[in-house]
Amino acid sequence: MATERTLSIIKPDAVRKHLVGQIVARFEAEKLTPIAMKMKHLSRQEAEGFYAEHRERPFFSALVDFMTSGPVVLMVLEGDDAIARNRAVMGATNPQNAAEGTLRKQFAESVQCNAVHGSDSPTSAAREVAYFFAQIEQCPR
Ligand code: GDP
Repeated sequence: MATERTLSIIKPDAVRKHLVGQIVARFEAEKLTPIAMKMKHLSRQEAEGFYAEHRERPFFSALVDFMTSGPVVLMVLEGDDAIARNRAVMGATNPQNAAEGTLRKQFAESVQCNAVHGSDSPTSAAREVAYFFAQIEQCPR
């Protein structure tokens, strides 16, 4: 299996609820190793650029309001098959559809306030990692 890097975000709802430690511990237990990490309060422009592919969706403005409502934790996770495995650990977008044992089943409040983000493909992962992290900020283990 190929070693991959993927972008993970602990969203403002989970940061507000003091869940950062529990979420990072779960990634480490799954051998999804953080190799870059920072806390940031996104500007509207930064959130809109990050979610540009959703610009035409009816929830876009609410999503940007939410993602700028407080600080987030941005991480690059590295591991075997990290992109798909991170999505599996996260669970479905809507926590009502998320499987038992997933982060969103455990921690998400709603389809919007759903605790974590994870890149959904190799193309997205490359774009999203580069959106927030310079090469020099990523520390392979
Ligand atoms: P993800 O890849 O599982 O995060 O899901 P998407 O790429 O489809 O959507 C991006 C983010 O937009 C989700 O994680 C939610 O925070 C939000 N979102 C998705 N669908 C809806 C929706 O129907 N309503 C609202 N309010 N937010 C949504």
